[in-house]
Amino acid sequence: MSGPRKIVALSGGVGGAKLAFGLDRALPAGALSVIVNTGDDFTHLGLPISPDIDTLLYTLSGLNDTRRGWGRAGESWAFMETLRELGGEDWFQLGDRDLALHVLRGAMLASGQDLTQVTAALAARMGIAAKVLPMSDAPSPTLVETPDGALEFQRYFVEQRCAPVVTGLRHGAAAPSPAVLAALADPALAGIVICPSNPWLSIDPILALPGLSEALRASSAPVVAVSPLVGGQAVKGPTAKIMAELGLPVTNASIAAHYAGLIDGLVIDRADAGDAGALPLPVAVEETLMTDDARKIALAGRVLGFLDTLREGA
Ligand code: GDP
Repeated sequence: MSGPRKIVALSGGVGGAKLAFGLDRALPAGALSVIVNTGDDFTHLGLPISPDIDTLLYTLSGLNDTRRGWGRAGESWAFMETLRELGGEDWFQLGDRDLALHVLRGAMLASGQDLTQVTAALAARMGIAAKVLPMSDAPSPTLVETPDGALEFQRYFVEQRCAPVVTGLRHGAAAPSPAVLAALADPALAGIVICPSNPWLSIDPILALPGLSEALRASSAPVVAVSPLVGGQAVKGPTAKIMAELGLPVTNASIAAHYAGLIDGLVIDRADAGDAGALPLPVAVEETLMTDDARKIALAGRVLGFLDTLREGA
């Protein structure tokens, strides 16, 4: 192929950002575009919060707090303390440094820029070479259906700590941003990676946008997903709980079935190597637990190699 190959990744928050970091470091600068879920976005205390975009910005710039697992390193909490003293809603944690990002985003949006432009400007300020692309410039909120009615995503995820039983999910249907559609239609596109984010909470809101799945299918580039399961369990978060609540076995067969018709290959963990034979598509068995930067980059290299194999075999 002439010119540098380009890769598009689809990502939610923490799990997806780990692989996005690895891909960014494994590829030439600027070759990666990450389409990020904004189904979790909400307005809180008047501030526009984009949790998954922020996780990508902090992770790709190396500013993320690896010990806490979310937010910025070196964070301080004077704002939250004062908010609590004043009787403000304190169920959603906003660190002082993090707060600056939300305030600035709010001001930029108010000045007439769209979320794609705002995110690009923030990413540039943070020294990020990859393109961080919000899935849409319009709100497309995810609603979590429970036996007691539908919950806004952050009420379910943060306030109620994923405790309610999930009976279904309702995804928004905003238009994908022009930048997202352009990234998927780029003739230099050599592969699409669905990161090991939660398929139901983080990836489905992206795939649910009108024309998005069609764009994936129409691309001549192979599509691979990395399973969020390691040793038959989710690494963290409610993926396994939700699968069980939706009546699905917590297995890679369920992940493959979920993405059937969209993906050309699935990357599963060594601990689940026994699943490979029964899966109805090409499978790569790899070490997928990304506990440090070296492992993120190593897995990214394997995923890129798998894409090469699929492209050559096409
Ligand atoms: P959130 O939006 O912050 O909840 O994060 P995501 O949806 O992006 O990621 C959550 C998923 O990432 C969970 O299902 C985890 O099992 C998965 N995950 C987290 N870390 C890893 C890892 O190191 N390897 C793999 N394979 N999956 C991971």
